[in-house]
Amino acid sequence: MSSRFQAPRGTFDILPAEEAPRATVHAAAAELFALAGYARMDTPIFEDTALFARGVGEGTDIVHKEMFTFTDQGDRSLTLRPEATAAICRAYIEHWMHRLPQPVKVWSSGPFFRHERPQAGRFRQFHQLDAEVIGSESPLVDAELIMLLDDLLRGLGVPGLRLRLSSLGTAATRAAYRDELLAYLREHEADLSEDVRRRMDENPLRAFDSKDPGTQAAMADAPRMVDRLDQADAEHFAEVRTLLDRAGVAYVLDGTLVRGLDYYARTVFEFESEALDAQARTLGGGGRYDGLIELLGGPATPGCGWAAGIERILLALEEAEPQPGADVFVTAPDAQTGRAYALVQELRGAGLRAELDLAGRSLKGQMKHADRLGARRTVIIDDGGKAAVRDMASGEQAELDLARAVETLTR
Ligand code: AMP
Repeated sequence: MSSRFQAPRGTFDILPAEEAPRATVHAAAAELFALAGYARMDTPIFEDTALFARGVGEGTDIVHKEMFTFTDQGDRSLTLRPEATAAICRAYIEHWMHRLPQPVKVWSSGPFFRHERPQAGRFRQFHQLDAEVIGSESPLVDAELIMLLDDLLRGLGVPGLRLRLSSLGTAATRAAYRDELLAYLREHEADLSEDVRRRMDENPLRAFDSKDPGTQAAMADAPRMVDRLDQADAEHFAEVRTLLDRAGVAYVLDGTLVRGLDYYARTVFEFESEALDAQARTLGGGGRYDGLIELLGGPATPGCGWAAGIERILLALEEAEPQPGADVFVTAPDAQTGRAYALVQELRGAGLRAELDLAGRSLKGQMKHADRLGARRTVIIDDGGKAAVRDMASGEQAELDLARAVETLTR
């Protein structure tokens, strides 16, 4: 049917059938956050425009051209939130959260708004999951936040994951580097895009993010902040890497990673999925923002956080191999139903998705049902109570000692 009205450009309806996968992402995130001691908090959908101008930075694309800003009846300038961190820091200051035990660990989720050119994976209203840790400059915080997002994306089964990691130093070391980079950009001005040239005084690091081939070629030999860290920043970064190495989190060091927001210091990172198109393949990213709370008028307080895009995660999951419908389906003749039931309970207790026939099917019917469910393996219990396990993809079958079923099937 066609209506005179449609959802505004770059926005979308979430239809009933589309809610379930979103709920899965939220539930997985809520569980991880609860285990790690992060409490949920929410801030308003709109804020004073000045908060973002100050907190995100005048030199950023977001503030420069992507904000949905309006004037209310009281002549105040308000903006639909384009990101979460500035508002959470505002709330931290406003509610004296520095008096709580530090660091304060919070997460949030909801809609965000940016006036971008709509395309696959890029919308004007989109949804983010957000995690922030405020009040500690320990590298443990950076590593924990990165590991949480890594756990979430891996646990959901996002394919083609890649983590890019770098350090931007602190405001003081970056000032000297900025001059060095600006001198380099001036030297190569002829090769740079018009847009980069126009704004290089305001935000020279942005040149690393340019999609323009000429600019990219010119930036290949540009000096990198990660090679100019002072001793304290370098040690902090080395500690973050050691913690990630110890946790077995794979990453790529990438000195061209600058992130689009002004407030970052020290660690920055982005997770991307190679299953997505190049122009929208970042699933989430973040970093440390030690100067931000002070910039917003609060006491000097370190902070670190990330945001991940729900729609990007869902798009990447659509590219994943379908998950098996059950890890194990247990088939048994009538006389052995009790044994099958007990085994299913035991397997579920060990974290496996286990099922059995609930409709009085014949043995053949049970096998067919296991196949239809997409079970990865089937346990076949015979009349005498002996068992075998069959791999449904290869058809390979082996004897199974029921006393050691959990051990065998969790392997
Ligand atoms: P950012 O604050 O730009 O680092 O954004 C964090 C994450 O939000 C990105 O990695 C994307 O997954 C998602 N995101 C940002 N902008 C958009 C957008 N316009 N449409 C959809 N997702 C977005």
